[in-house]
Amino acid sequence: MTFAAEVKKECSRLETKNICCTNAELAAFVRLNGVLELGGKSKLGLSMKTENPATARRIYKLFKDTTDLPVDIYVKRKAKLNKNFSYMISIRPNLATKVFLITVGMMEETYAIIPGIADQFLNKRCCRRAYLRGSFLAAGAVSDPKKGDYHCEILTHDEIHKNKLKELSLKEDLQWREFQKKNNTVLYLKDSEQITDLLAMIGATNAALAYENARVYRSMRNRVNRLVNSETANLNKTMQASWRQSQKIEKIDSLIGLETLPAGLQEIARLRLENPEYSLSELAESLNSPLSKSAVNYRLKKIEKMADELEGK
Ligand SMILES: [Zn+2]
Repeated sequence: MTFAAEVKKECSRLETKNICCTNAELAAFVRLNGVLELGGKSKLGLSMKTENPATARRIYKLFKDTTDLPVDIYVKRKAKLNKNFSYMISIRPNLATKVFLITVGMMEETYAIIPGIADQFLNKRCCRRAYLRGSFLAAGAVSDPKKGDYHCEILTHDEIHKNKLKELSLKEDLQWREFQKKNNTVLYLKDSEQITDLLAMIGATNAALAYENARVYRSMRNRVNRLVNSETANLNKTMQASWRQSQKIEKIDSLIGLETLPAGLQEIARLRLENPEYSLSELAESLNSPLSKSAVNYRLKKIEKMADELEGK
């Protein structure tokens, strides 16, 4: 099952307590996914398609539990993509559909469609979240954060509704960005914190946690990488200096012999040759009578200078 399918399954298990929120969720689902059918004698039918079985069951159940609409659910195996099923939630043409659409602020008495999102849903936090859930169930997708890409989107097909959905989201501090995809507009989020918030709002708690974990993991990993990189950089510097010092020490040895050096310099020179990987502090600690790091540095510089002078002669 894809991550997005898991998210829909999780949202679909959520119990909605208030009828206001159930209406908000259904309104969003119908707006983004519904097709109105005209039956005879002013009767209206409604059909909605989804490929997610949990979503299909939820929407069917919400209609069944909170309205008197004659609702059915059908399963179809898609002709081309042999393994995928699609689910159709269908309300047979009847007189109550209009009443429902008026209740959720989508239709006038005159049968005229009202665009956008009704104020009753915009103005209440519980309904805003339910509306976002309905929208996500109808036309949403979200990437698996473990795969490293953070992306969540909702496909919209109506300009006025899209703008209202952005307005509603903004009241919940969600800032959708958008791009055109043929005749549709895709609203999307890339910020993992925003996606986490949205998932938590619509009731996908586990998915929100997965996003939160991925974000924490990523920032930890970045920090570790930075530490490792600076460590490697330091090690490279040590090795370069050590290699240069060893060259000079060997030069002195071949020209006048290390035994001619003062005892203090001699000890450091030999330690350096034997332990090319040692840092200055490691060299300092390994001396018979330990010195400070800067004293070791000073002596090594002195040795290098001696080698240069010997070479110059
Ligand atoms: Zn509500």
